[in-house]
Amino acid sequence: MDVLELTQRLIEFDTVTPKGSDCLDYIQAYVESLGFETTRLPFGEVDNLFARRGTAEPHIMFAGHVDVVPPGEGWTHSPFTGVVENDILWGRGAVDMKGAIGAFLAAIPYSQPKGSISLLLTSDEEGPAKEGVVKVLPWLVENNHVPTFALVGEPTSSERLADTIKNGRRGSISFDIETYGTQGHVAYPHLANNAASPLLALLGILTSTTLDEGTPDFDPSNLEVVKLNMPNNAYNVIPGVAYASVNIRYNTLHSFESLTNFIHDAARKVKEEFGATFVINPILSAEPFLSSSANWGNIVAKAVESETGLKPLMSTSGGTSDARFIQKICPVVELGLLNKTAHKVDEQVSLSDLKTLQKIYERIFLDQ
Ligand SMILES: [Zn+2]
Repeated sequence: MDVLELTQRLIEFDTVTPKGSDCLDYIQAYVESLGFETTRLPFGEVDNLFARRGTAEPHIMFAGHVDVVPPGEGWTHSPFTGVVENDILWGRGAVDMKGAIGAFLAAIPYSQPKGSISLLLTSDEEGPAKEGVVKVLPWLVENNHVPTFALVGEPTSSERLADTIKNGRRGSISFDIETYGTQGHVAYPHLANNAASPLLALLGILTSTTLDEGTPDFDPSNLEVVKLNMPNNAYNVIPGVAYASVNIRYNTLHSFESLTNFIHDAARKVKEEFGATFVINPILSAEPFLSSSANWGNIVAKAVESETGLKPLMSTSGGTSDARFIQKICPVVELGLLNKTAHKVDEQVSLSDLKTLQKIYERIFLDQ
């Protein structure tokens, strides 16, 4: 089957997170017909598939997700039918990331690597990502399936196919901040202690601090206030409690500890001035990483150049993906389709991009 047919079949499954078992059944049967040994690894309501052909080194793994975000309203063509019009394939998941899975599946028959190739697919990447790849990795380690290199098929291209390879990602951490003062009458401020004042002072410090200037591999870290709330409906009441949350996208100049200290140090200064109480809860969603092998990035970049003539940009920008988990066991880079329509209504991919991505994947998995 060609890349278009394969991608259309995948789009026809409604796999809004955490659905995806029937789509994984389809892929499992396909790769078994090509000589892969397969294992299903369900955790909770999330289904995962690992498949490998051969046991020799190097072992190169393609990783991705069959789940998609909800389609939303107003599609030109129904989101789960895979309509083709003017050489454009429409559908939820066309670029994020059933198109890339289709390209990998279509490449397999043309790949005769010296080593072995494998496939790891989850149905829990767009959701909480707690029962997917993160749970499968220990199983890979225990069963001698740790890859030499991994490639994640997320849509990394921005203007032209394969113009960007992700060789790392910034980290993401949030802090929930609660401030307690003393509630009272606005007319008698000496009897109250406004919880909003120290919170705003703290947020002022946090947002006016330059965290760093960036590194050769990473953009500067940035902090944003993402929630602000005072549960108070009256004009004559000084609030006794106030809440805020900040999210920080950070590079390798920082860590969970250093950022937690940064927030606590700032809170301590404000606390002394205002006599307020802070309760601060960190929520770590991803640590920053840079692919541990420049060699692997070069292999992927060379494949892109041979196929398209384009020298791709190595980048660590953008949100988080399952690569943040995989990097803990092997070098990982990400390369996939254009991300312009990802998660949008009328998600779409050109047939020529699908075919070219298949060719690039053939080179990556064939040449090793
Ligand atoms: Zn994705």
